[in-house]
Amino acid sequence: MKSIFLAFGFVIISSWTVFGQSIHHTLSMPEPQTHYFHVELKLSDFSDDELILALPTWAPGSYLIREFSKNINIVRAKNEKGQALDVRKITKNKWKISKGKAKEVTVNYEVYAFELTVRTSFLDLTHGYLNGSNIFMYPEGKKDLGGKLTIIPYKDFGKVATALPKVSDGVANDDSSETFTFNDYDHLADSPIEIGNHEEFYFDASGVRHKVAMYGAGNYDIPTLQRDMARIVESSTAIFGENPNKEYLFIIHNTNVGSGGLEHLESTTLNVNRWTYEGAAYLRFLSLVAHEYFHLWHVKRLRPDVLGPFDYDQENYTDLLWVMEGFTSYYDDLILRRAGFYSKDAYLSRLFSTLNYVEGSIGNKVQPVAHSSFDAWIKAYRPNENSSNTNISYYSKGHLIAAVFDAWMITKSKGKRGMDEFLTVLYKKYYKELNRGISTEEFQKELEVFLKEDLSDFFQRYIYGTETIDYAKYFKPLGLTVDKEEGQAAGFGVATKMEDNRLIVRTVSSGSQAEKAGLSPNDELIAFNGFRIGKSEFSEFMQRLTVGEEFSLIISRDEELMLINATYGTLDAVRYSYDLDESNKLGQFWLREK
Ligand SMILES: [Zn+2]
Repeated sequence: MKSIFLAFGFVIISSWTVFGQSIHHTLSMPEPQTHYFHVELKLSDFSDDELILALPTWAPGSYLIREFSKNINIVRAKNEKGQALDVRKITKNKWKISKGKAKEVTVNYEVYAFELTVRTSFLDLTHGYLNGSNIFMYPEGKKDLGGKLTIIPYKDFGKVATALPKVSDGVANDDSSETFTFNDYDHLADSPIEIGNHEEFYFDASGVRHKVAMYGAGNYDIPTLQRDMARIVESSTAIFGENPNKEYLFIIHNTNVGSGGLEHLESTTLNVNRWTYEGAAYLRFLSLVAHEYFHLWHVKRLRPDVLGPFDYDQENYTDLLWVMEGFTSYYDDLILRRAGFYSKDAYLSRLFSTLNYVEGSIGNKVQPVAHSSFDAWIKAYRPNENSSNTNISYYSKGHLIAAVFDAWMITKSKGKRGMDEFLTVLYKKYYKELNRGISTEEFQKELEVFLKEDLSDFFQRYIYGTETIDYAKYFKPLGLTVDKEEGQAAGFGVATKMEDNRLIVRTVSSGSQAEKAGLSPNDELIAFNGFRIGKSEFSEFMQRLTVGEEFSLIISRDEELMLINATYGTLDAVRYSYDLDESNKLGQFWLREK
C-alpha cells in the first residue's frame, strides 16, 4: 500500500485534501526545562460520534514494546465551540473521545521527553529531539490519512531538521514556526525531528543532497566528514544501482555515551560518543553510517512482510531479522572495504573476529538464528544474566551467513554475481514492482532460484537449527583458506563486575565448573582459599590454578556467607584463522575496492 512512497516525487497527493477529513498536529515546547512537549491535534470532519486516538507502543527498527503512552499525562479535547468533550482511556495506549456531532475536535496533551536515545524523545534547554511514534497520536483506523505538522520551536531554538517536506504557504510567519506535511502516519512516525541550535552542513553524493544536523560538541572535522560520508553513500548506492531519495538527513547526537543508530526511509539518527572522530573509533563511526545508510534499501524498502505497514499496538514478529540486520552488518564492513577504508587484511580480520565471537558463544549452540530474530522482542531486547548461555545475536550470526551466501553465489556464478545482485533482484521485485514486504518462505525461495540450489537442508541445519556451518568449504573457492582449531581451554566459567566496591558474579557459563560448584549470578566473591579477594585479584587467583585443582571460595548470597568448594576446569574453545591467496580471481571480485 503506502502512499508514503509518493512523497519522493514532486507531486504530493495527500489524502487529507481528497476526503475532506483533516489532521493537523501542532508541536510546541514553551518550557524546555520541564522536558514536556505540548501537542495540539486538530481533527476536522470525522463523522463518527466517537473517535479513538492511539499512540504506538514501539518504534519501528527497535524491537521492544516501550509503552510510549507512559509519558503522557491527561488528554483533553474540545469541540469547535470550545466546549470540553469527554475523554476516557480505554487501553494502555488508546483514548476514546465522545465527540457527538462536533465537526472539529481539538485535542491537547503533553509528553514527557527525557530519554536521549535514537528511538525515544528528549527535550531540555539545549535541544529537542523526537520520534513521531513517541509523541503523535493517530485516529484509529485512519493511519493511511496524511496531514500537517506545525512546529513552534522554543524561543531560543533556531533550527528544525527533519526529512518531512516543508509547506511553503507564502505567508511570512512572525513566530519561527514551520509547517510540514506527512503522507500517512508511518511517514510521520518514520521522520525524526531535531530542534535547536545544531550545526548543519551538506554534501552531495550519488545525485542526492545530504544534510547533516550535528547536536553536541565533538572532535569532528566537517570537510573530512563531507568527503568520507560521500564515499560511503557512493559505495552503498553502487550495490543497488540507484538511490531512491532526492534528499537525505543525518541527525547526529554527539554525547558522552554513544548508543548506535536507527534507520528511516529518508533519514537516520546516530547517537555517538563525541570523541569518536579519530583513529579506530572513527572507523566504527563510518561503519555505523554505512549500516544505517544501507538500511534505506534493506529493511526500509526491501522489508519483511510484517515490517510495514506496521501494527503499532503489539510485537510484529518476523524470522527475518538475521537477513535484515545480519546482512546489513555484513555490508557495513564490506562498504568500508569497498570505499577504501579497510585493507583486505583489515577487512578479513574483522570478519574473523565476528566468526570467532559467534562460534565461541555458548548461546550459538542453543538458539537458532531464526528464533533469535523472532524472539528479539522478548530476548535480544530484554537480556538477563543467562542470555549469554541462551542467545545468539542475529546481527553477528546473520553477518556470517551473508558472507557464506555471498561466497557461494560468487563461486557458482564464477565471479559474475554475488549478494549485491541478489539483493538488487529482491529490491526491484518486492519493493519497486510489488510494493510489499517479503515473507520468510519467499525469501528462501528467491535464494534457491538465485543459487540454483535446494536450500531446505541448509535452512533446517543452520537457520532453524544450530549446527556449525562448514565455513572452510564455502570460502575455499575464493582463495580464503579457513583453519579451525577446536579443543578445551582452561577456565572456570564466571564473568564478574564491580558494584559498590564489591566483586559480583555477572554470569555463570552453562556446563562450567563454576556452575557445578553452585555459584550463581549476583553472588559476591569475598575470599579465595581463605584470603580476601581484592578488586583485581580474582582473575589473578584463577590464572595460577591448574586444570583439576581444587579450591574454596567464600561468597555472600543475599548477605549470608557461604563456603563453596570448587574445581578448576576447562571450557569448550574454538579458534578460526585464515590465509588469503591474493591471486584468486573470485577472491579479488569479493574483496574488490570500488
Ligand atoms: Zn541495523
